Amino acid sequence: MEKIIIFDSTLRDGEQSPGASLNTKQKLEIAQQLSVLGVDVIEAGFPIASEGDFEAVSLVAKKVKGPVICGLARALKKDIDVCFDAVKHSKRRRIHTFLATSPIHMKYKLKMSQDQVFQAAIDAVRYAKNKTDDVEFSPEDAARSEIDFLCRIVEGVIDAGATAVNIPDTVGYSVPSEFGQIISKLYSRVPNIHRAVISVHCHNDLGLATSNSLSAIINGARQVECTINGLGERAGNASLEEIVMSLYVRKNFFNVYTDIKTSEISKTSKLVSSLTGMVIQPNKAIVGSNAFAHEAGIHQHGVLAKATTYEIMTPQSIGLKSSELVLGKHSGRHAFEKKVKELGFRLAQKEFEKAFNDFKALADKKKNIYDEDIEAIVENEISREKQIYELESIFITSGSAVRPLAKIKLRKDGKFFSAEASGDGPVDSAYKAIEEIIAQRFKLIDYSLKSVSIGKDAVGEAMVKVEYKGMVYLGRGTSTDVIEASVKAFLSAINRILRNIKGRD
Ligand SMILES: [Zn+2]
Repeated sequence: MEKIIIFDSTLRDGEQSPGASLNTKQKLEIAQQLSVLGVDVIEAGFPIASEGDFEAVSLVAKKVKGPVICGLARALKKDIDVCFDAVKHSKRRRIHTFLATSPIHMKYKLKMSQDQVFQAAIDAVRYAKNKTDDVEFSPEDAARSEIDFLCRIVEGVIDAGATAVNIPDTVGYSVPSEFGQIISKLYSRVPNIHRAVISVHCHNDLGLATSNSLSAIINGARQVECTINGLGERAGNASLEEIVMSLYVRKNFFNVYTDIKTSEISKTSKLVSSLTGMVIQPNKAIVGSNAFAHEAGIHQHGVLAKATTYEIMTPQSIGLKSSELVLGKHSGRHAFEKKVKELGFRLAQKEFEKAFNDFKALADKKKNIYDEDIEAIVENEISREKQIYELESIFITSGSAVRPLAKIKLRKDGKFFSAEASGDGPVDSAYKAIEEIIAQRFKLIDYSLKSVSIGKDAVGEAMVKVEYKGMVYLGRGTSTDVIEASVKAFLSAINRILRNIKGRD
């Protein structure tokens, strides 16, 4: 059986999802989990895009061992230089450079002829090859490129030293049999094709990203670019979990394998969802909350009699387990530390101490502490950025016959600021009081609240999206008190906005 290389682009294409932005620490945490999951390549970012991207790629290259660490670069010397400076810290580093080859992109975006594009691609690959052995080239919008030109450029970049050539369906336009044929044509027409790994990168605009990727594998592609939960530009990329589980469940059909530890899929999916704030639809294949739920009586009866009557894979195969009762008030540091490790987190000493304090505080309020509660505490710690305003206290009155009123006290640079306000319900009142203290208005465009574990005393997680000057900022907050969680979420979004304004001055 041949191996399929899993190239994960959650931190690059995935982070380009509208509304999903990650800080450096969160990116590192995801990269570390991707390494545990067993991906072969991590595309950690687009280093020239911003200073933050550069920092994140450098940090991942320094800290994450195992997978190849890859950075994206346009076919320009300065991009390739910056990309190499970021990935060079890893022993296993890759430069991924790209240039569009479709008539529409060459004419309107690049304003370059076929010959100019061909030469620029060759030059970029040669230039990158001088810096590192492992070079990937993508003819952007390959699925809409002329096949003769595509064959010519693929042959050219392999001659120039590309070790992987990626065929992207950049705009999610292709259909499975057509996309598979592109790959098989390349195999029959490009003489040096066996000197490089042929990769695919499919977008999900028509819901065909996974199907197109699998069709490419049938036709000889040996690397798949994908993202956790299918995150990515617009409708997203092919989802890692769908590709991997298709190959796993239908091993006999595909006759290939991956090195992915499937029992880490569920954990990775949850981590990415909670750090990016991108909620997973319940009926999402593999990782949706309903993916293993049987509703119809006849199905339930069948599954109880023999699981395989209606289950093509087990929940355990993706690492799903039901909520277990774990820790409580009397659990000590060791038990907590062990649990944190079991859940797959790595915390620095200082973060651990803070998380442990949060755990103790939670144990005072809540009798049973579940895995999900601990995950929420630890993720909170990982996501913590320097706060400008911190919540000191909340006092709320609310009820069916009283006017809701919120008194909020915030702390900034050791000084206290208070305000009270009245609005439509307790959350609105609290948000108004915060706006009063900061003396600015913010536009709340999304608000959601869910419980992270089970029971009436479960920890609530609030998520908000706040718009400010055309940009969308995400905020998260957790607490056993839903009003407090909502206030923390709003405040964390506002802190992001204020930091961003400060950063630009
Ligand atoms: Zn893409």
